[in-house]
Order: sequence, then C-alpha cells, then structure tokens
Amino acid sequence: MSNRKKVVVIPGDDAAPEAVYPTVDLLRSLELDIDFEFPPSGGSAEETHGTGFPDETRAAIDAADATLYGAGSTSSAEIVRYLRWGKGTYANVRPARWVPGCKSPLAHPEKVDLIILRENLEDLALGIGGDLEELFSLGLASKRAGRSLQQIAQEFGGGKYALKVITEGGAERIVRYAFELARERRAAGKRGKVTCGTKHNLIPEPDGLFRDVSARVAEEYPDIEYENWLIDDFARRLIVEPEEMDVVVLPSLYGDIFSDAAGGLIGGLGLCPSGCYGDDYAYFEPIHGTAPDIAGQNIINPTATIRTAGMMLRHLGYANTADRLEAAIDAVYAVEDRLTPDQGGSATTTEFCNAVGDHLA
Ligand code: ATP
Repeated sequence: MSNRKKVVVIPGDDAAPEAVYPTVDLLRSLELDIDFEFPPSGGSAEETHGTGFPDETRAAIDAADATLYGAGSTSSAEIVRYLRWGKGTYANVRPARWVPGCKSPLAHPEKVDLIILRENLEDLALGIGGDLEELFSLGLASKRAGRSLQQIAQEFGGGKYALKVITEGGAERIVRYAFELARERRAAGKRGKVTCGTKHNLIPEPDGLFRDVSARVAEEYPDIEYENWLIDDFARRLIVEPEEMDVVVLPSLYGDIFSDAAGGLIGGLGLCPSGCYGDDYAYFEPIHGTAPDIAGQNIINPTATIRTAGMMLRHLGYANTADRLEAAIDAVYAVEDRLTPDQGGSATTTEFCNAVGDHLA
C-alpha cells in the first residue's frame, strides 16, 4: 500500500486563492509524499456544476487525509458546513505568536505566544434562530425585566432570537483538548496553562455550564495551571498581560472574536493560521475571511495560509518539514525582506512566497 498522502485543496473565494495557490506551490517544492487535488468548489463550481459543493468534492474530501481551505464566501458555505459538522471537527486551534518583523501595535509583542482554542460546533455557531413569535408558546419570561417575552416583543414590534447552545459533552471534549494541548506545550518548553473565559454571571445557563465543566476537568490535570475569567475581564487581560495566556479555551463566538483580537496583537489577520480537528478528520484554514477589498491585487499576506499549511504538515506527520517552513517564514520577517503592505512592506504575495522559498532552499 502506498504511503502517499492526499490533500484536498479548496482555494476559496475573493482574495483567498491568491494566497492558497502559491502556498501549494511551496508545499510541492518540498517534494513530500503528498498529492494535492483541486475538486470543483465555490463560485466556479456553481457555474459549472450548479452547486458550490458537488458530490465529487465531498467524495474527494472523504478520501483525503486532510483538507486545506482558503476562505470562502456564501458559495462555499456548504463545504464548510460539511468540514465542520459533517466531519465533527470540534477543536479549532488558533495560534497567535509574534515574531520579530511583524507589525504589532504593542510595545512588547514578544510576550505573545498563545493559542485560542475555539469550540467549533456549538454555541451560536449552530445557527439556530428565528422570529421571536416562534417562542411565544413556550411562555418564556425575563426575570430581570419582569415581563414575558411576548410582552417585550409586542411592545417593540417583534424581533429575532438566536439560541446559545452548549452541551455538557461538547464542553467537556473541548476543555479536555485544551488540557492535553497545554501538556504538549509544557513538554515543548512553553507555559502549559489553560485559561477559560465565560460570561457566567450574565448567562448562567450555557456559560455557567461551560465554566463548571472546565473547572471539573481541571481537577483531573493538577499539573496544569488553570484559571477562569469573566469574558469581559479576559478581554482586558489579553491586552495588558498577554504573557499570562497560553491555551485559552472559549465557546465558539468568544473564540471567533478573541482570535481576531489576538491576531491584532501580533500584527493582523494576515498572520494567523488555524486547524480544525475532530476525532477522525482535520481541515486547515487561516482565521481571516476572503479579504474581498484587496482581491485581484496580489497583495494578500499569505503568511496565515502558509502557517496553516504548516499545521497541516504537522498533522500529516511531517513535523520537521513544518518546522523548516515556520523557520523560513520567521527568517523573511527577521530581515524585514519582501513583506506585504499589511506589514508595512511593498512586496506582492508572489514576492513574499518567493522569499519564503529562498529561505527554504
Ligand atoms: P469573515 O467574516 O469571513 O471572517 P471578515 O469580514 O472578518 O471575514 P476578512 O476577510 O477577514 O473580513 O478581512 C478583514 C480585513 O482584514 C480586510 O480589510 C482584509 O483586507 C484584511 N485581511 C484579511 N486577511 C488578510 C490577509 N491575509 N492579508 C492582508 N489583509 C488581510
């Protein structure tokens, strides 16, 4: 049986493909035993196949060892839905590590080396919501406002709701993942600490559950430091004492928001990779969106996508090559050579990737 790995590449929409294609070229230059496949997807597949997610693309994802995903607009939404809920990729690992040369707004960005671990499948990410009227028959009331939901809605002419859903099992597996990750980081010489953030005073049901589960799981890991902050207090701490953060485990929405914030601390979204892991599958995507405002200009910063590819290589068993790739990126920043405009340079995406390639050679 061949040991070759198969990676499905979904380039995504707007500016995302401009980062993905040269990233795959870099990976190919490493001459690993990986085959890259580009099944039809997104906007172009809508034109040719009448859907952004044809059956053959789903089959390719199923047959692959991992998927590398750029960033998608609505035409790729079904693909993401499948990669997340279809594949059970509940753990979204979002590292934020500053390296010299990156344009951080902080005086001491060298303190930032953390991971936002975002629960990927529950919370507001489930997308359960609708018109308030749908809930009237449940007889819900606000103790704080002293009124029924119906009264509140009718007074203000109706409205919408979204459900914040957190399950015990969903919370437990992501928190456990956080502690295992912290142990790995400690073994690698890092702090090895878990921080949890919730708004359990305002939202005692789902956020209280998440906090209680995290505190319970923490007792099983006495070797790992653990703390829980109210999410607003966490926001302040992330800015004033980022060196206190190592693995930060958060429900989906907070994880989404604070991974962008952590990205801001190190110099912007163009630097931030991520991997989404489940028990049987993993896919990899930068945390940024499709950057439509800079599409077609060949100036998107591919660092996030290349580091994302590095996380994928690690997952596929190529840890040494992933280290080489990371070191090559760091070297480009260290000499502030051929940086893209978001980092104060004037290089194109292509020129940045060539610089990484030169340091790899
Ligand atoms: P989404 O909602 O899909 O996450 P978004 O609305 O947060 O997307 P992004 O596409 O992430 O938006 O872009 C936000 C801003 O950051 C835009 O101005 C975009 O150009 C910029 N940006 C995002 N990614 C990069 C990148 N890799 N390089 C340079 N600029 C980027």
